[in-house]
Amino acid sequence: MSAPRRMLIAGNWKMNPTRAADAHVLAQLIDAAVTLPVDVDVIVCPPTIYLDLVRGALIGSGVGVGAQTMHWEASGAYTGETSPAMLSGDRGNPIATHVIIGHSERRQYDGETDEKVARKVAAALAYGLIPIAAIGETLEERRTGQAEAVVRRQLTAAISEVDTLGGRRMAIAYEPVWAIGTSMAASGADAQAAAAVIRELLVAAFGSDGSAIPILYGGSVTGENAAEFFGRDDVDGALVGGASLKPEAFAAIVAAAGASAS
Ligand code: PEP
Repeated sequence: MSAPRRMLIAGNWKMNPTRAADAHVLAQLIDAAVTLPVDVDVIVCPPTIYLDLVRGALIGSGVGVGAQTMHWEASGAYTGETSPAMLSGDRGNPIATHVIIGHSERRQYDGETDEKVARKVAAALAYGLIPIAAIGETLEERRTGQAEAVVRRQLTAAISEVDTLGGRRMAIAYEPVWAIGTSMAASGADAQAAAAVIRELLVAAFGSDGSAIPILYGGSVTGENAAEFFGRDDVDGALVGGASLKPEAFAAIVAAAGASAS
């Protein structure tokens, strides 16, 4: 990889596992399986209720913890929500360092609009969290030739409220919806084509800060296909769903990132 960016591998556990004890065991197995490469950041994003448990299980491992979503307000009458103030926790001791914003499942099932994504990204940055803004087209949008336009629209919205005050420590995840949980990963060339569009927009918006923002690919990444993505100029890691629940597969993806970064 030519760009001097750190890579990021983020595991999205989604709404799994169903028992706290199993979340604890999964974190321990990931700790045991993963060998952390020097130039790669690794996090897992468990369900909110397990954040502190998993964080505790991973202390000292070098594997960090992220949230899967959050509200944009710090507190208030928002039943069921988790705020950026809560995630950022006590000074120097965050409950989570990263937060996924705008995952397609939240866009599809929970009314996460471009406007909400914009507010959440800005709020995460304001609280010192690293947002991983997820964008990507549906199969229908791809079939009708709108893929690039959708990526441009979602990214433009996601960064529309980002200013210099909160910093620009963020990541973008390109996740074509048709590749998520389907075993039909995009090709490395398609992932790079989308990442190049994203990079162009980031640099246009943020200048040199934009070239330092990691762009992840997400969608049926496995230990077997990961290297196909990590060899690309603008792909700096992966957002991993299903394989992040399998410690050996997740470890193989981290190892592939390490081989590409070195
Ligand atoms: C995801 O949930 O963001 C994802 C990419 O899932 P999977 O790896 O299972 O396709």
